[in-house]
Amino acid sequence: MVVYFNNQFLPREDVHISPEDRGFLLADGAYEMLRSYQGYLFKAEAHQQRLERSLRELRLQGVDTSAFPGIAERLVAENHLKDRDATVYIQVTRGAAPRRHAFPADTAPTIYIAATPFEADLRQQEQGIRCILQEDLRWGRCDIKSIALLANVLAHQHARDRQAEEALFVRHGAVLEGTHSNFALVEDETLVTPPLSNRILAGITRRTVLDLCGELGIPSREAPVTPDQILRAREALIMGTTVEITPVVRVDDHTIAGGRPGPVTRRLQHGFRRLTQDRTRSGVSPA
Ligand code: PLP
Repeated sequence: MVVYFNNQFLPREDVHISPEDRGFLLADGAYEMLRSYQGYLFKAEAHQQRLERSLRELRLQGVDTSAFPGIAERLVAENHLKDRDATVYIQVTRGAAPRRHAFPADTAPTIYIAATPFEADLRQQEQGIRCILQEDLRWGRCDIKSIALLANVLAHQHARDRQAEEALFVRHGAVLEGTHSNFALVEDETLVTPPLSNRILAGITRRTVLDLCGELGIPSREAPVTPDQILRAREALIMGTTVEITPVVRVDDHTIAGGRPGPVTRRLQHGFRRLTQDRTRSGVSPA
């Protein structure tokens, strides 16, 4: 497998990361994850712009992200992934330097990009998943796609331990998002998803779903969501690069709409599939 590491394309086993890397020692970095659908890089520009923003917010300088979509395309081609689905993972850290909290002077960032085969979980998308509610113990800048994911890892594992597939973070009575997904429910035919803030990631799938709602004539609203609303919701769903649009049919002990995915979710799934499978375009997709 060929990967990109600090200005070079090389076999993954030849990548050597310093034990002094601030990503390893301090989780001092940001990442992106995007999908390649049969060689078509979905929303590549939006992912690049979000990474640019994460790096700016972390004051991590000296990275030219404009080259990343091209690098991703080359990795997909060189790893023979053009005729199948894959993920492209991009990570940037503040580089290797003796362990201090203060930013190091004159240290080059570490950049790692890898394309890996990936298959969406179609069974979950068809049948829906179970979620649990979890108190949100994350930091106050969840809008930055930081590599510091320990609270997400623990919450997700807690869900798995309880035979659920995702945990939904709740803070001060508001349901915010999943550990690697955004959340929405359907109430009176209207899709409702928590508004953007420092408490959630501005998901690119979330944005795509809101745009799809506009296109398909599905009313939508960005507004706070409470656990009580889930009890009354007609449908619920999570959205993300890996989960795409996955129905939620159970939250804790409550079954949503008889445990079957609803019609709004189905329409959005079809619309989303049309966007990702559009073969009239090829290569890097626009934002
Ligand atoms: N929220 C969190 C915490 C995530 O980690 C992710 C994706 O990894 C998302 C939301 C969904 O974002 P996107 O649709 O851009 O993948």
